Amino acid sequence: MDWEAICDGCGKCCLLKYKDAATTVACRWLDLDTCQCSDYANRKTNYSACEQLTRANIATEPLPASCAYRRVAEGRPLAWWHHAISGSRDTVHKAGASVKGKVVSEASIKDMQKFWNAGFVQAFK
Ligand code: SF4
Ligand code: SF4
Repeated sequence: MDWEAICDGCGKCCLLKYKDAATTVACRWLDLDTCQCSDYANRKTNYSACEQLTRANIATEPLPASCAYRRVAEGRPLAWWHHAISGSRDTVHKAGASVKGKVVSEASIKDMQKFWNAGFVQAFK
């Protein structure tokens, strides 16, 4: 399978992190409807902390256990809702395995300083 096609489109790696834990706030460039980056070609320019996954860094990136890259790296099978198994890129959303409907965009938060106050941060479940 093509390296880029391994991604299941869950959007979980595009959530802002607090102490290495994903929060319920998504990077401002994440399209909350498709759970895809809205400007993938320029992601590193737009957001310097955006990490490009490679075979070399896959083991050290803080990816969720459900991540298809992590599954492949650990020798685990792809989930039933992965598009390569189900035949549809919508299945990840229908199965509730993506961030769709569960997070807000960073762009919608008026005061990011308040957000980074630990009491305001919620972990993504
Ligand atoms: S967590 Fe993994 S599978 Fe999900 S969007 Fe990120 S790279 Fe793709
Ligand atoms: S810039 Fe990076 S972290 Fe933000 S939505 Fe795009 S791929 Fe995800």
